[in-house]
This record gives sequence, C-alpha cells and structure tokens, in this order.
Amino acid sequence: MKNYEMYVNGKWIKARSGATREIRDPANGELIARVPESTREDAAAAIDAARAAFDKGPWRATNAQDRGKLLFKLADAIRKEAKIFAELETRNCGKPLAESEFDVADAANCFEFYGGLATKIHGETMQVPANSLSFVLREPVGVCGQIIPWNYPLLMCAWKLAPAIAAGCTTVLKPSELTPLTALELARLIEACEFPAGVINILTGPGAGAGEELAMSSKVDKVAFTGGTVTGRKVMESATSNLKKISLELGGKNPNIVFADADFESAVDGALFGAFANQGEVCSAGSRLLVEESIHRKLVDAMVKKVPRIKLGHGLTPGVKMGPLVSAAHREKVESYIRIGVQEGAKLVCGGKRPEGKDLAGGNFLEPTIFDDVKPAMRIAREEIFGPVLSVIPFKNEEDAIRIANDSEYGLAAGVWTLNINRGLRVIKQLRAGITWINTYHPTFNEMPWGGYKQSGTGRELGLYGIEAYLETKQVNVSLDEAPIGWY
Ligand code: NDP
Repeated sequence: MKNYEMYVNGKWIKARSGATREIRDPANGELIARVPESTREDAAAAIDAARAAFDKGPWRATNAQDRGKLLFKLADAIRKEAKIFAELETRNCGKPLAESEFDVADAANCFEFYGGLATKIHGETMQVPANSLSFVLREPVGVCGQIIPWNYPLLMCAWKLAPAIAAGCTTVLKPSELTPLTALELARLIEACEFPAGVINILTGPGAGAGEELAMSSKVDKVAFTGGTVTGRKVMESATSNLKKISLELGGKNPNIVFADADFESAVDGALFGAFANQGEVCSAGSRLLVEESIHRKLVDAMVKKVPRIKLGHGLTPGVKMGPLVSAAHREKVESYIRIGVQEGAKLVCGGKRPEGKDLAGGNFLEPTIFDDVKPAMRIAREEIFGPVLSVIPFKNEEDAIRIANDSEYGLAAGVWTLNINRGLRVIKQLRAGITWINTYHPTFNEMPWGGYKQSGTGRELGLYGIEAYLETKQVNVSLDEAPIGWY
C-alpha cells in the first residue's frame, strides 16, 4: 500500500482538506494506495500554477527543440520503467498485463511522436493582394484543463499531455478518481526529467468539484476531455463560461460488420477481440456485431465455441485474457444492461453472469456475454454498455448493413469484414464514423487521427491533427510600403 501525493507547481502536495481516497485492486479488492481527494479549491490552485507557468515562467521562452527533448526524455524514462508501469496499470484498472504492456509502450511512443513533431510546427506565408509580407504564426493555446477516463489511464495521459507540451501549452491533468496511479507515477518521471514547475500538474480528485473547475474556470484557455457522452455534454456547458476551446472524445456503439464473403476464421477472431479486449471497456469496442444472414448462425456458434478460451482472472496471472471490470458499481451497471437485454427479448447465448470460482469471488468479474437476434431498436443495440457484452444483429444485404450501422447517435468507430476490397471501401465510405477498419479491429497508431462523428465527440487527437487543438493561429501583416496609407 502506497500513500501518494499529487503533483502541482513542481511540488508534491496533499489535498487542502487532507481528504484521501482509497484505491483498490478491482480483481481482489485489496487496498493498493491512497491518493489525495482534491476539491474545486485545489483545482483552482493548480490552474493558477499552470497560468503562472504559461504567463510568467521560463516555459514561454523554451524553444521547440527543448520541448521536443523533454518529451524524448520522458518517453525514454517510461520505457526504462515499463514493467513497473504495466504492473501498476493492471493492478489499478484490471486489464491483463499484456494489454498494459502494450499501453505503456504506446504511451512512450506517443510522447516520442510529439517530441518529434514539436520542431515541425510551422506557419506559412500567403500571397496577398497588397504590398505586404503576410504570414501565419502558430502559437500555444495557453493553459489546458485535461480530463481523462479510467479505461486507458497512462495512455490517455500521453494522448493529452504530449501534444499540449509539444505546442508549448501548460496543463492541469485530472485522471479518473478510480485510476490515478500511473498518472502519479508519470508525474514522478516528469519531475525527474526536469519539466519546469507548473508546466504539467497532475491533480487527483473527483469529476464533481475538481473536474468541474477545470471545465469552468475562466483561467483555463482550453479543455480536453475524454469520457462519457453525458459528462462530455456537461463539460461543454461548463466551457461556455469563457468560451474556452474544447475537444471531446466520447462514447461509441460501434458496428463491426461481417459479410458472408469474409475470411471466416479472421472474422470470428476479430468479432471477439473487437468486443472483449480490455473487458469491453473501450470506447471503440465493436459492441454491435452486424452479420450477414447467410452466415449468421455459423458465426455465432463459432464465437460461442471460442469464448471459453477467454480466461478470466487477475490481470497479472499468466494466460489471463480478461480481467475484472473497473469497479463494483460499473459491474452493476453492465449487469443491468444484461437484464435489459433479456427483458427486451434478445437471445442470451453465452455469459450473462458473474463467473464461479473462489479466486474470482473477490473481484468485479463478469463473463464475456453474447446476445443474439438483437433488434436495432433494443437498448442493448443503442446504448453504450462499456463492458463485455456483445449484441449480434443479423442483416440482409449491404444496404441494410449500412443503414443499421449508421442508425446510432454515436459515430466513433466501425469495422468491415469482406474479401471484396471494392465492397469494403464502398461500405467504409458510407459509414459515419471517425475510426474504421477493414479485415481487422482495434489496431490504431499514434500517427493517425482519433475521434468521432456525431455525439462521439468533436475534434481529433493524435497524429498531425492532434496538435491543432493546442495551437492558436495568428496572422501577421507587414507593410512593405514606406508611404502612409493616406486614407484621411
Ligand atoms: P466519465 O465521463 O464518467 O468520466 C471521465 C472523466 O470526467 C473522469 O476523470 C471524471 O472524473 C470526469 N468528470 C466526471 N464528471 C465531470 C464533470 N461534471 N466535469 C468535469 N469532469 C468530470 O467517463 P468514465 O471515466 O466512466 O469513462 C468511460 C467513458 O469514457 C465511456 O463512455 C467511453 O466511451 C469514454 N471514452 C472515450 C474515449 C474516446 O477516445 N472517444 C476513450 C476512452 C473512454 P471522476 O471519474 O474522477 O469522477
């Protein structure tokens, strides 16, 4: 058990109230840490630190090379401690170790990507009608409030911090109250890498209060939020206080579409991985499986046969493929959707309950669950469950598949399985989603833009696109004439 402090203005501090929160391993309930439970007041102080670092500190004078080098240094520091980070991530949020290892490597790569990009941020010169040298400067947007969820704690820190720092912003980042540990360990590396005080502040505490202050404060220039759509809407409303810049990465109810001409085994694998990786606690999970009628039964049977290979257990146990859900409350929410699915008349073909076994009794485990014969109007086909629950919806033809896929308030991700590349691309072009795959599901890259259509969010993270959210654009016009304008 470790007692943590939070990292504000280059110092390790407690919450002003002295309050702390217990952090428990979701696989067995073991108390693993205590962290400060900050309030609105603590958040305001952290914002002041970020404000001072941006307005008055040495940070504004750093050049892009130095910012890039700091990010490279941080990437290396993470890689050196990759094992520590991966194990802690698994203990805090439950995911299997192999998935945490992947996330840690990806987080280091993300810092490195933006370390490289720092020196490539550039404006441009425009040809204008007057005798003027007119050019565009890109400048940091200012102080950022960054709010992240519990499903990819370290990776989400990287997605948020890396572009902000590359652009020259300062930031207050608030991890989820449930999973703050790798963010706090990252703060230890940030201190060791000698980022100037106040540039990156890691504030632990609940969304109600601390998070609200980040979204509301008129001293914050930009808020970047990843989380649920309902919270995203609240953040957007709060951000109107000073019309701050805003980017939102929200939920999804993503269609994964299998045509009869797909490679069958790959599609079975891709359907299961799409739905059950990270316990299904993934915004881009392929939680709606649309299957062409002619192979529908065969595909469902093949999936059900393979599900027992998804070994449940503590994420640190070798061979485990699915960990516990993040909290008891979240498991209850997912279970309530399983009850809704049954009441709505969907056919429960596997899972649906807590697994048996003494070693699983103390954790928030839930069996991988598949509902078949789901109708597009059912709640389990429309609402984000954010757990290991897959809804299978049969379709007749291409047109039918596209219609069902797009019939959602969300538009985050989508997959298509077919060996006919013309069909694959034709369907992808008609899907209203920001992240798409053909004959695979889930792999994404730091180089590629991440974000959703419709109510899945606004703006894009990652890649060259991701830096845009952290940059202002300034036009500069220099008259090349020496004579006065002579208008009056
Ligand atoms: P929440 O929306 O509940 O919380 C996200 C973050 O917002 C947390 O840090 C939370 O704090 C904070 N928060 C809560 N209320 C407020 C508020 N009123 N003002 C400011 N901040 C607030 O999401 P979850 O943590 O439950 O994560 C799951 C959701 O995240 C899913 O809907 C999922 O789809 C989405 N997500 C989207 C991704 C994407 O890229 N599109 C990626 C990953 C997840 P706290 O938890 O400490 O109370």
